[in-house]
This record gives sequence, structure tokens and C-alpha cells, in this order.
Amino acid sequence: MSQLHDLTVAQLAARLASKDVSAVETARHFLARARAHESLGAYLATDEDVTLSQARAADERIATADKAALLGVPMAHKDIFVTKDFASTAGSKMLEGYRSPFDATVVCKLAAAGVVTLGKLNCDEFAMGSSNENSAFHPVKNPWDTSRIPGGSSGGSAVAVAARLAPAATGTDTGGSIRQPASFCGITGIKPTYGRASRYGMIAFASSLDQAGPMARTAEDCALLLSAMCGPDPDRDSTSLDVPAEDFTKSLDASIEGLRIGVPKEFFGEGLSNDVRSTIDAALKEYEKLGAKLVEVSLPRTELAIPVYYIIAPAEASSNLSRFDGVKFGHRAKQYGDLLEMYRKTRAEGFGDEVKRRIMIGTYVLSHGYYDAYYLQAQKIRRMIADDFQQAFRQCDVIAGPVAPTVAWKLGEHGNDPLADYLADVFTLPGSLAGLPGMSIPCGFGAGHMPVGLQLLGNYFAEAKLLNAAHRFQQATDFHLRKPEGY
Ligand code: GLN
Repeated sequence: MSQLHDLTVAQLAARLASKDVSAVETARHFLARARAHESLGAYLATDEDVTLSQARAADERIATADKAALLGVPMAHKDIFVTKDFASTAGSKMLEGYRSPFDATVVCKLAAAGVVTLGKLNCDEFAMGSSNENSAFHPVKNPWDTSRIPGGSSGGSAVAVAARLAPAATGTDTGGSIRQPASFCGITGIKPTYGRASRYGMIAFASSLDQAGPMARTAEDCALLLSAMCGPDPDRDSTSLDVPAEDFTKSLDASIEGLRIGVPKEFFGEGLSNDVRSTIDAALKEYEKLGAKLVEVSLPRTELAIPVYYIIAPAEASSNLSRFDGVKFGHRAKQYGDLLEMYRKTRAEGFGDEVKRRIMIGTYVLSHGYYDAYYLQAQKIRRMIADDFQQAFRQCDVIAGPVAPTVAWKLGEHGNDPLADYLADVFTLPGSLAGLPGMSIPCGFGAGHMPVGLQLLGNYFAEAKLLNAAHRFQQATDFHLRKPEGY
């Protein structure tokens, strides 16, 4: 029999439902693994008492023949989601030890489906980053090679899943933070259409971009989890869409014969490393074998997504982060003279360098005299990027390409060069700016035998199509079953 931690969410849910294993036993098993592999840095908080009491409640529901889809399945949440029972830090000293009086909507929805919370996962501070090195607490190590970064900002989530410290995790994706760490750690992750999942209780970074999504080992698991996470939340998130929750597992097995896969030529230019290129090429060939047709498409403004995103996201961040002023939440400077000094010292002490950089850029591009030159221009190009996708989707059903130009780099490799991180987001930012659903699925290995993810992008509300295409790929390949040695 497989070890508990090697089971997928779907397998585990079945074992729990048939009472082969209890939720308490399962939770204990994963908590023990989290402790044993603490050196990876994936978790920021665990609390055995809380987890076990949730597990006992799940076992009681199982005993009453409750049929919730995820009953007793343990999961951990990116520390961007607020939770009553665990501290919620967003990876920042500003919120060290902060306790929310409520749970995020996504957390509530998963709990209603039966999920047991294992704890909170490390991330880049306020989800700003691509390597998890911007966490104010400690970096996260990639289990495939612990000298490398796991990707970011949902690095803790990706590592917890890849190293089997949780069967699944939540992540958030503003500009690639689900897809890129999933790619770097050899797991599967999906960011739904903007507005599908409620942002209530997700500590805000860039509100017009932030979306929650699941990270797990298989597309099937992602479909199960996403079905539980989505749905309108009109009273709490005004941008949540009035689109009913959907059962994304229904169409997983549909044939993909004749599926038109758009391959954007701009995703295969100079910046793409050869190892990633050949891995992606092989994955596209696999899709052809499965009956899909490749069509060349063009996303001519791909490179512009970087400057556009790094204007819009910091602009929104500078506004969102103004709430951390030492009055209402978290950290307050110990010594100060007047109110202004309290604000200044609190923010200087509480925020890390990258967050400060973004607040400064954001404040600058929104300020009088620069707003038209930067922010407004960026918004116009954002619209053009979204239009380019609509043009492409006239010729294809889904778009495929790399998630990132390279495999995971070494810890410290980008040093103090934030631009190196920003440039690595080139393939995930366009889909984010357009608000499209996107995923990453393991499709092979590149330099240093590090995992490579294939990015699949769909039109609005095409999550089911993406998950179907991903699932069919996973039925024909075994990259999603490989695991790092020692885990
Ligand atoms: N790497 C991007 C950034 O630093 C995206 C982060 C995200 O999606 N949260 O902003």
C-alpha cells in the first residue's frame, strides 16, 4: 500500500470516505512530516491542537455519512490567507504574530468541503517576489536541489506539496505566483479567471490582479479543490464574479482530439533557455500525439507586460499597504515622538526592501504629473494585451508555452538585482494582466535535473478546458508522479 503522503487528494479522499484511514491519523502523519523536513522552511506556522481538533470534527462528519468532497483531507494555506486559528503574516514582520478575527472566504469554503488545515505556508513578503527570498522570516529551499529557490511568491506552498508535507496547498497568483513555483517544484497549479475565487481575506497586494488557486500534484486534484474554492461572494468581494461554482472534475476525461493549441511565437524568443525550450517542445509533441493540433499565434506585446505589470502592481500595492500604519494592524514602533514619526518608524521597521521599493515606485507612478505618463499608459497597454489574447483565441482553444525562461535558480543568485527577478516573470505576466485562467503542469526536467512546467492559458472561464487538457497529458505522462529524492 502507498504511504499516506504519496496519495493524491482524490485517493486520500476516497480512503478517508471508506474509513480506511482516519482524518486524525492522516493529519498526524503530515504534521510529523512537516516537522521532519522543517529545514526546507515551507511552514511558517503549525498548531497540532488546532489541526487535530479539525481532524476530529472531520472524522465525526465521516461517521455521519456526510458526503463532502474533501472530508478529512489535510491542506495548508499560503500565509496570505487570513485565518482565525493561526497567525497570518503575509511573510512580513509588519504582521508578525497577527491574528485575524475571521477566516478568508477561500479558507471557509475549503473547510466546508471538509479540509483540515495543517498550517500556514511561507511566501514572499506580501506576495512580492519570484523566489521566496523576500520572506521576512526565512527562505524556502527547493526539495529537488536545496541550493535552489522554490520560486515565488507561493514558494512554501509549492515545496509543501512537492516534498509531500501536504497533499495540497492554496496559493495566490498576481503575476505568476502559483504557476511559477509550481513549475520550479514539479507540481500542478491553477490560477482561475480573475474574479472566480473571492479575494475576501486574502491580504491584498494588487487587487486588480490577485487571485487564489490550488496547488497539488495532479490536474484532477486541482479540479477537485478549485471546485470547492470558487463561487460568487457578492457581500464581501465586489469584484467576485456572479458565476456559479462549477464541478471542474466532470470534463477531465473528455477527448482532446482536435484541440487547437496556440503556441505564441513571442514565448520562444532569445530569452528562453535551451533546456526549457526543448522540454516544452517535447511536451507539445506529446499533445500532438494525443490528437491536438498546434497553431502558431502571436502575442505581440509580451515583453511590454513586464513594464506594465511593474507599474500597475506597485501602484495598487502602494495604496493597499497604506493600511499598515501601526494603528490598526500588527507592528508598531516601540519609540516615537509624534504621530508622523510613529508612522514613519513603524513602516521603516515593518516592511522589507522589496516592499518599500514597490511602495515607492507605486507612489511615484500615481503622483500628480506622472500619473498620465506612467499609470495611464500602462492601463492602456494592459487593455491591448488583453485584446491580443482575444485575437489569439480566435485561432485556438488554449495557449501553451513555458512558465518561466529557466529552471529554478540558485538561492542568492539574483543577489540585489530585483530586475533579474522581474524579467523572469515575462511569460506569466501577460495572462495575469488580461485576467485569464492559467496553469502549470510538470512536463519534464531541464538543467540540473530541475523540473520544468508547461504553461496552459485559457480564455475567460475556460478552467474546465485547461484542466481537461492537463489531465489528458498526465494520463499519458508520468512527470507529475516523480518526486525529489528523500521525500
Ligand atoms: N513575481 C511577481 C511579483 O513579484 C508576481 C508575484 C505574484 O504573483 N504574487 O510581483
